[in-house]
Amino acid sequence: MSSARKPDWLKMRPPSGREFTDIRESLRDRNLHTVCEEANCPNLGECWSGGEGSDEGGTATFMLMGDRCSRACNFCDVQTGGMEPLDPDEPENVADAVAEIGLDYVVLTSVDRDDLPDQGAGHFAETIREIKDRHPGILVEVLIPDFQGEEHLVRKIIDADPDVIAHNVETVERLQFPVRDRRAGYEQSLSVLEQVDRESDIYTKTSIMLGHGEYDHEVYQTLADLRERGVDVVTLGQYLRPSRDHLEVKRYDHPHKYETWRRVAEEELGFLYCASGPMVRSSYKAGELFVDAVLR
Ligand code: SF4
Ligand code: SF4
Repeated sequence: MSSARKPDWLKMRPPSGREFTDIRESLRDRNLHTVCEEANCPNLGECWSGGEGSDEGGTATFMLMGDRCSRACNFCDVQTGGMEPLDPDEPENVADAVAEIGLDYVVLTSVDRDDLPDQGAGHFAETIREIKDRHPGILVEVLIPDFQGEEHLVRKIIDADPDVIAHNVETVERLQFPVRDRRAGYEQSLSVLEQVDRESDIYTKTSIMLGHGEYDHEVYQTLADLRERGVDVVTLGQYLRPSRDHLEVKRYDHPHKYETWRRVAEEELGFLYCASGPMVRSSYKAGELFVDAVLR
């Protein structure tokens, strides 16, 4: 398959408005980073405001443990290597920012820190606790690394008791490499999700990118494997190439196709919910969708 041309339904609207500016300033003051901004996410306006016409706080995704990753996935724009020491104030600073911005639902994610003795699991867990201690009503979703499949590290996250633990399988089994770093893997990622399901009542979630050259039967098999391991929520979105140094896009699927996958995931395979669309990202309107599907 050769590189595909970007279709009209992927045109992005730049974020604007007071809410956006206020949140951005609050983050700058604390030297915090969000994936929303760093990845230039097309959903920023929608997520930060809690959705069109919403009177609820929004969702934002904080990126913990720096902006450099110990891995090098071929779809990802985060820089590799040159790891910095952890900022011990980060857990508290994130909790402060969450309070000031007035979020109802926060997503925490991180780069992979294979360079640290506990791969950053303790820092992640501390941030969850800081937020929960100060804002008992808030819902916390964490998008965690695979921790190289080390169960005692995944358990540190489970013990901090977030509301949702997400870990992304990213793509179908056949394409794990070249899409992901060689230290990642399909079975390893499924095992992380299965462990969370086995050891806790915490909701589990994962994401699949489409557009790397996967076949429909492989997407179906991935969804079925995820359900078999007890995964509750899945999102599907279009892979967009961050630069010419990254993997090319093999295909752009029409929004109708995404709607078909949503129905398959929810109605046939029994996922609690599936967010599926070209612009959908792992944390796309995570708070709104979670509250609608689980709490109402
Ligand atoms: Fe990017 Fe995550 Fe891969 Fe690091 S592990 S390169 S942050 S996708
Ligand atoms: Fe942020 Fe995720 Fe929403 Fe994008 S989809 S704006 S990264 S919360």
